[in-house]
Amino acid sequence: MTQRALIVGLGIGGMSAAIALKRQGWTPVIIERAPERRKGGYFIGLRDEGKNAAAALGVLDVMEKRTPENIRFWDVRKDGTRRRIADLTQETNAPIAVLRGDIEEALWSGIEGKLNVRFSTVPVAIVNGAMQAQVTLRTEGSEETTETYDLVIGADGVRSTVRRLVFGPDKAFFHSIGTMLCAFPLAQPVEGFRTGDGLMVADVRHTLTVFPLEGRPSTALFSYRTGNPERASRKDPLPTLRQIFADLDVDGIISKALEDLEATDDFLFDSVQMVKMPRWSKDRVVLLGDSAWCPTLYSGMGASAGMMGGQALGEALAACPRDIDGALQMFEAWMRPFVRKHQRFIALRSQLFVPSNRVALWGRRILWQILLRSRKYLSRKRA
Ligand SMILES: Cc1cc2nc3c(=O)[nH]c(=O)nc-3n(C[C@H](O)[C@H](O)[C@H](O)COP(=O)(O)OP(=O)(O)OC[C@H]3O[C@@H](n4cnc5c(N)ncnc54)[C@H](O)[C@@H]3O)c2cc1C
Repeated sequence: MTQRALIVGLGIGGMSAAIALKRQGWTPVIIERAPERRKGGYFIGLRDEGKNAAAALGVLDVMEKRTPENIRFWDVRKDGTRRRIADLTQETNAPIAVLRGDIEEALWSGIEGKLNVRFSTVPVAIVNGAMQAQVTLRTEGSEETTETYDLVIGADGVRSTVRRLVFGPDKAFFHSIGTMLCAFPLAQPVEGFRTGDGLMVADVRHTLTVFPLEGRPSTALFSYRTGNPERASRKDPLPTLRQIFADLDVDGIISKALEDLEATDDFLFDSVQMVKMPRWSKDRVVLLGDSAWCPTLYSGMGASAGMMGGQALGEALAACPRDIDGALQMFEAWMRPFVRKHQRFIALRSQLFVPSNRVALWGRRILWQILLRSRKYLSRKRA
């Protein structure tokens, strides 16, 4: 009899795990809280690790790539002047620019029609055992049902219900960075800039970054620091951002972007939390993706880690047939060093996005300019 896995969450982590487990002969069932598959999302820079994982999952070739051909980045100062800076997306190994929805679309192509996906469905209770887990599921408009699985995979994001039900409350695992983010697509290119231009309007404790994408609207990313991110995340984003960014409205860039936020439902407004756990599995429940190790957007690795995690879990289960405990230990041993590496220095890396003081603001500016010059020098040398 094939082994059955319940995957909670139809995001990057959940779909990657589904493809990898199906390939190893498992029967995965996916449940998703939303009534339908989400599309769109925000800019993601997919680095080598993510590209390799996408290739291993068989979806890299079908993934839309959106790196603009003539990408340029600008540092826009409060006085309206602007300076070229290094391409923020090229900070380490050359990533490809994609929309979160592009990764999900590609992964979906490996799933569609091949397995059971239930929308508007959430887990409400999990009885976790040494050999199996019983999960009570609630589907909108239906009676609750209880089903038994050989493995439950919590891939339900940073505010994971599976983690709360099985491992404990969020606060035991959240490490706040003290910042908030709001990401959404801009309806129009920023006035005075050409297609393919990205920009950063930055001041101490608050920043707007615009990431350009080929063939899709640019992503606006508002970030700011606050003493109480959890309270801030319950506020209404529009008036909050209008108030915090009122002094940074250079050439109307901020107010025009906020008009676009007002007109879209496709936005994310949340506090930035790193998730740190001593162990990602307990008996027959395992977490992966942001629910297990959210490295935050400052790592630039969350999407890559989600795909790697799904792929690694599939390989570990294949390497330890009929020994799920052994497979989960192997999964942990493979993923830990990578996650540890990318969770390190997150507070420092957050300074690149939202400087906490004037020294960090200037240090960051100088760094991006040095990077631009050194890249120009290297490309001249190569030519
Ligand atoms: C602004 C921003 C920029 C980023 N930039 C990058 C980047 O450049 N590079 C990079 O690699 N990463 C980046 N990331 C990180 C990356 O987007 C995430 O790490 C990744 O999407 C996490 O995927 P996931 O599947 O683990 O979780 P999620 O994307 O959160 O998916 C979880 C899924 O579970 C569903 N769900 C939630 N609760 C339940 C429930 N109770 N029952 C059923 N379903 C449920 C949700 O609806 C969702 O579909 C960025 C993130 C942000 C916010």
